Order: sequence, then C-alpha cells, then structure tokens
Amino acid sequence: MAPAARAITSWIPGLRGNDWTQVKATELAERAYFDWNATAPLREAARAALQEALTLTGNPSSVHAEGRAARRLVEAAREQVAALVGGRRADVFFTSSGTEANALALSPAIETANEKQPRDRLFMSAIEHPSVRTGGRFPRAAVEDLPVDAGGRLDLAALAQAASRASRPLVSLMLANNETGVIQPVAEAAAIVHAANGLLHVDAVQAAGRIACDIGALGADLLTLSAHKIGGSKGLGALVRARDDIHFADPLIRGGGQERGVRAGTENVAGIAAFGAAAVAARVRRAEEAAAMLVLRRRLEAGLKAISPQAVIFGEGAERLSNTTLFTVDGMKAETAVIAFDLEGIAVSSGAACSSGRVQPSHVLAAMGVSPAVASGAVRVSLGWATTEADIERFLGAWRKLASALSKKRQGRAA
Ligand code: PLP
Repeated sequence: MAPAARAITSWIPGLRGNDWTQVKATELAERAYFDWNATAPLREAARAALQEALTLTGNPSSVHAEGRAARRLVEAAREQVAALVGGRRADVFFTSSGTEANALALSPAIETANEKQPRDRLFMSAIEHPSVRTGGRFPRAAVEDLPVDAGGRLDLAALAQAASRASRPLVSLMLANNETGVIQPVAEAAAIVHAANGLLHVDAVQAAGRIACDIGALGADLLTLSAHKIGGSKGLGALVRARDDIHFADPLIRGGGQERGVRAGTENVAGIAAFGAAAVAARVRRAEEAAAMLVLRRRLEAGLKAISPQAVIFGEGAERLSNTTLFTVDGMKAETAVIAFDLEGIAVSSGAACSSGRVQPSHVLAAMGVSPAVASGAVRVSLGWATTEADIERFLGAWRKLASALSKKRQGRAA
C-alpha cells in the first residue's frame, strides 16, 4: 500500500531545514503501511464525497437553497453513520474527533427520562484510550479504574463489585483495544451496568468497520466513532446515543445551536459527507475485509514465530481484531525497531501511536501485568483493507534482518 507521495511539509514556514517532519517526495511512494490503528487512508468513496461536498457553498444552518443543499449532505451522512452501528439518524451527533465524542460522553450531566440526578461515579477499564482515561468532566476522585486479566480483557467481577458501590454510575469501556486489538466483553458488561442503574459508554473507535458494532446488540447507551479509522478524513467523530431520552445537559461547546444544541459550530460539511461514505463502505465491506485481514495476519504471525520462536504476541489467546498484532522479543527496544522498520520502508508503531514522538510506557501492557522492561519492546503492526500479501512478505523480510541483528546483540552481551 503506497499512500500518495508528496513533500507535505516543504511549504510550511518554520518547518524547513532539518525538521524531522520533512518527508521527501519519493520516500512515501514505495512503502508498506502497517499503522492502520493510528489512522487509515481515505477510502475512494470518501474522497469522492469529500471533493464533491467541497464544491458546495452553503452553510447547513441557512434556509436558502445553498444552505439546504449542504444540510442534505449532512443529514444523509448522519443516516449512513447511524446505519453503521444500527442506530437512528436523530441519535448521531457529529464532533471534531473520537476524542471529543469521548469527552462529550464522559459528563456527570448525562440525563435520561428516569434519571436527572448527576452520575456519581465513572468507572473505566484500565486499558482505555487516553481520551477516556482523563475522565472527561468527572472530578478525579469520582473516577475509578477496573482491572483487566493477563489477556487484556476486562474483569467483569470487578465491574459488578464496583457498580454496586455507586448509585448512578457511568461506565466507559472500549469495544476493542487500540494497542492489542483485544475485544472486550461489552454486552456482558452492559447487563451488569444496567442492573446497577448505570449507563454504558462504548468507545468503538477501533472496532467499527472491523467487527459488528450494533449499538442495540452491544447494550451501549452511548457509542463513540472516529471517521479517520474507517476511511473518512481526520478530525471528525460522532457520538451516537441508543435512545432519544438520553440528554447531554452540559454540552462541551455552546453557541449557535448546531447538532441540536449538543455541539455548536458550523458543521464540517465535506468531512461529514466523507464520513458518511466511509461508513457505508465500512458496513458493506466489513465481513470481507475482516476475513482477508485475518488470513494476512495469520501469515504474518506464523512468519514472525518461524523467524523468532520466542516472540511474544500480547493478548494472543484472547479474541482480537483480525488486523492487530502487538509483539516483542527479548532485547528489543520499540523506538529503535520502529526506526529500523521505517528505514526498510515499513510503517509500524510502538504501542499507542496517538501521541507519536513521545515515548511512554504502555498503560495497557502495564494493566495486563507486563513488566516495563518487556513493554518497552512492544511493536504494533496493524493491517487494513489495502494490505497485500506482498506487504506481509516485505514486513517479514525486514523482520528477519532486524531479528538477526538483535540476536547478534544478545550473543555479544552473553559472551
Ligand atoms: N479511542 C480509541 C480507542 C482510539 O484508538 C483513538 C485514536 O487512536 C481515539 C479514541 C481518538 O480518536 P480521534 O483520533 O478521532 O480523536
């Protein structure tokens, strides 16, 4: 898979010279991209929708024909995004990102028809994305982590115990983890949460388009999506509610009343149109793409273990997304490995990539009981719909070289 080649930063004043963000025009042309959990390329249908929408002038809030044409696109996309999660158009709220959708959801002031009192506790698994881990607008003292097992799956008994200690809990649980790909027992968690008079928010950013994400079947009350993980453009997300009796009494951004007062600001019409088109493709093509990725990932993991029998794949025994492998071998440093792969024309990531450029120990692996020394060697390889067999062979070729260098280093140390 070769993303479009361009010297993307050469025109930005202040980013000339030796800035590390400089990328040569030729450099991106012949690469193998294995960082789909960080972001996916724009799908063709999304690109077409984006380009077409960019030709429109109107503001969706205007009543004239130009405004109505823009509104039509936004509402059509809302329907398409709703369909991806089996929801209703009126229950989709567009935001600037998955991060913002999470922030909107994590408020004590989420009301339902039967419960207007503020939510008293926020529980979340210890492996949530940083945008959830910050706790949204809950006071720090009201936020509590829930443990996961060694396979990276939520401890349901701990959830039940915690939920029984609160009067009106909000629980936030991801459907699939961004580092390990491990799928969480969301439907089981929903039953526990609802029995405790709680609400369940599900961060489905990594799961959408890869596994079934029906909001009703999951038992989620609120669900977060991010456009760029499913082939839309970056900088767009959505919060979907399960029913129209769920209200956001304390919106994050107030102003012109867009998104029915939940998120003010003129809509990103073109991005929303692309999000809708990506949601259609992700829904229609999901089963086929997930099956193809599984075949490729099996080949990748078998090759990895044939070259390095001692390789550890985190969450290997658990149910995982078919596109994600997080692995390490003894003596590997993730940052060094990422650079070595990069020099071979291969994009992988060291653990969570949302804050790339900063090296931090993985809170996900820590929660799974992995020591910091081992965790610091974890490399994430994530596949997508455009990954090919040739990409996998290229990855394995690069790994063979890197593994042999690592083993020489180990032998040197032992001698
Ligand atoms: N939730 C999860 C599980 C993610 O992996 C990410 C991004 O990687 C987000 C939320 C944030 O989404 P966005 O990049 O749209 O802010």
